[in-house]
Amino acid sequence: MVCALRLENVVKRYGHHAAVDGIDLVVEQGEFLTLLGPSGCGKTTTLRLIGGMDRPDSGTIEIMGRKVDRLPSYKRDTATVFQSGALFPHLTVAENVAYGLRMRGTPSADIAPRVSRILEVVRMADFSERYPSEMSGGQRQRVALARAMVVEPSILLFDEPMSALDLKLKLELRAEIHRLHEELGYTAVFVTHDQNEAMALSDRIAVMNQGKIEQIGTPIEIFERPASEFVYTFVGESCSLNLPPQSAIGSSGRLFIRPSKLALVNGSGAENVLVGRVTTIEYLGGTYRIHAETEHGTLFFDSAKAPTVGPDHMIRIGWKSADATYFPLP
Ligand code: ADP
Ligand code: MG
Repeated sequence: MVCALRLENVVKRYGHHAAVDGIDLVVEQGEFLTLLGPSGCGKTTTLRLIGGMDRPDSGTIEIMGRKVDRLPSYKRDTATVFQSGALFPHLTVAENVAYGLRMRGTPSADIAPRVSRILEVVRMADFSERYPSEMSGGQRQRVALARAMVVEPSILLFDEPMSALDLKLKLELRAEIHRLHEELGYTAVFVTHDQNEAMALSDRIAVMNQGKIEQIGTPIEIFERPASEFVYTFVGESCSLNLPPQSAIGSSGRLFIRPSKLALVNGSGAENVLVGRVTTIEYLGGTYRIHAETEHGTLFFDSAKAPTVGPDHMIRIGWKSADATYFPLP
């Protein structure tokens, strides 16, 4: 089966700065791939190169086995959902969704049934005669999703489509995008800086840093076997300690542990223990977060029970060696 998308050594510079610095990427048909990384790492630029809104300085992009380097955006068979819907304010929901079909020369008899079907799919059928100003942000994003999906592109591109929504709507739309992917099996390249979103939605995640892909893998691989300190700290919460290497091979570096793998230790038994002085305790709703200073760095971890210690108390914090990861300094 031909892959949906292939990027080979793609570079895009703005002045002397490489916003995208040599990206190789293959996305299979039906795959949901997420580009995850901090603001400014080159996610949007990569998406724009795929969609044809920008041209790379070098490298090659193929969509469904066809080189698209010289094709303008509208001939690439992609559709994009942006951060805030970018719906036409003077068109109704149905007209907004129909727009892409008209542009592609779909016979007019086919347009209305396709528009109603996709509005059913995103559960917006009752809103077809509304204008964008008459809907909530979450509803507008569902319409934007319908507008992109109705043309049945080879690849759907998403640029942080939930980032303008409040938490509840964000979670609703996330579940909707997930459900639609499971039902319809479209190919997606999804951009976000939110690791929870990436984890929840993706078949694979490409973690980006400074224009490069640091690691690509399933959510479980990225979270449980991060290839670098950058990936470890960007994906999930982490504590770090300045410790000498546990084996003889390493130079100096840092030991990383997930707070969920740390626990208060009474007596002996833990493989590794550090003594810490409690600095703060935060109530997080259901759990308490304890911060403590040790001679090798600050640790924090959560406790379901109300802690019996307070600020300035000395505590013992333990973890299993298998739960810690050592990265040498670069
Ligand atoms: P992200 O989407 O990951 O936040 P972008 O792809 O938007 O990052 O930007 C990557 C880098 O390229 C940033 O340093 C940004 O300032 C720069 N950049 C993006 N677009 C332009 C542009 N049109 N002109 C100059 N610099 C740009
Ligand atoms: Mg961006």
